[in-house]
Amino acid sequence: MRAVEIIAKKRDGAALTSEEIAWLIAGYAAGDIADYQMSAWAMAVVLRGMDDRETADLTIAMARSGDMLDLHDIAPLTVDKHSTGGVGDKTTLLLAPLAAAVGLPVAKMSGRGLGFSGGTIDKLESIPGLRTGLSADEFRRAVREVGLVVAAQSGDLAPADKKLYALRDVTATVESIPLIAASVMSKKLAAGADCIVLDVKYGSGAFMHTLADARTLARAMVAIGSHAGRRVSAVLSSMQQPLGYAIGNALEVREAIGALRGGGPADLVELCMTLGAQLVQLARLRPDEESARALLRAALDSGAAWEKFTQMVAEQGGDLAYIEHPDRLPAAPVRSDLFAPRSGYVAAIDGQALGMACNALGGGRTRKEDRIDPRVGLVLAAKVGDQITQGAPLLTIHAASPEGAMRVAQHLQAAYRIADGAVTAPALVEEIVTA
Ligand code: URA
Repeated sequence: MRAVEIIAKKRDGAALTSEEIAWLIAGYAAGDIADYQMSAWAMAVVLRGMDDRETADLTIAMARSGDMLDLHDIAPLTVDKHSTGGVGDKTTLLLAPLAAAVGLPVAKMSGRGLGFSGGTIDKLESIPGLRTGLSADEFRRAVREVGLVVAAQSGDLAPADKKLYALRDVTATVESIPLIAASVMSKKLAAGADCIVLDVKYGSGAFMHTLADARTLARAMVAIGSHAGRRVSAVLSSMQQPLGYAIGNALEVREAIGALRGGGPADLVELCMTLGAQLVQLARLRPDEESARALLRAALDSGAAWEKFTQMVAEQGGDLAYIEHPDRLPAAPVRSDLFAPRSGYVAAIDGQALGMACNALGGGRTRKEDRIDPRVGLVLAAKVGDQITQGAPLLTIHAASPEGAMRVAQHLQAAYRIADGAVTAPALVEEIVTA
């Protein structure tokens, strides 16, 4: 087989055989197929799509490109969650300790920033000392000792996805239902969790702009997971505006810490309750939504979830002084407000524009090898539905320099739409897709 023929076949709209997909992925993982050929293939998939069989083949090929973890000797049942990515999405930082606090062992591999959306690993690494690059032994020990681990995708787990993910981030090949479904599910299958909740986001701040696309993606992923013998459900959640108020790595960690200590934004907490209630039910810890929520609420209110978070940070080498005093986390030297040009109600916030602004400030990558600046980002002062007066702050830019802040400010005004009449905020959770 030749890579160029497989690229051409997909470019011309034909379905690839299982053998072709397996060969391509194995070759890419082994370094025999170059990044430029894989980029061309990924772009062909973005433009031409893949059918369900090809998507399942891609998922299995990427999952099997490395180790497949089996954690049953440590815990009879482990849980995992995954988000398809969204602006200001710090859900894992709250949900993972919350699930662990109710007794569900969480074995989670997370990603770095992708396109305009941030990634949990970049966020966690803004805590000085915290290591996310764990070996398989360290990963297993953390599950055993703490009942909670959030690690970067190790070189051994789904390495083909790891390489392809980094390539897609910088080649405009993220927005593809089959590529996202296979990317997410290959990691989930390889990481070994029995129960998986997927947070499938839609709206301007997500890779799926419409609810219909999000539903298609959710169904594809739930089907792949169920076929592989896992208990999976997916929550379709709105990214018609960023989640919470903070966008940017250290800023989001600070906001998540606030939520774990009882003071978080209502939308973030509500989404975590919805996702957590799915995990509790999938694990058959409680029979229905109401009792599952009550269990989670008690773990949040008692401080048990916060306690789990601190144990996780300590286990992964993080300096607890920074999370106990989050004002010590890396902070940008420049803060600059963006003001409302007129009075009215916030009608829409373009999450993608805000995510791109955060990247432009240095919070994301434009090349694979870029280092990110954990300090920078945006903190919203107004969300959809809020009444604002002319001259009041819409958001604060946290930048490394005054020039950086000025550069993004020009684009940010256009991200807010202000209406004269009252506006209702969009529903946070649209529906839940089960197997
Ligand atoms: N999250 C992933 O893990 N992969 C994608 O492709 C998109 C979101």
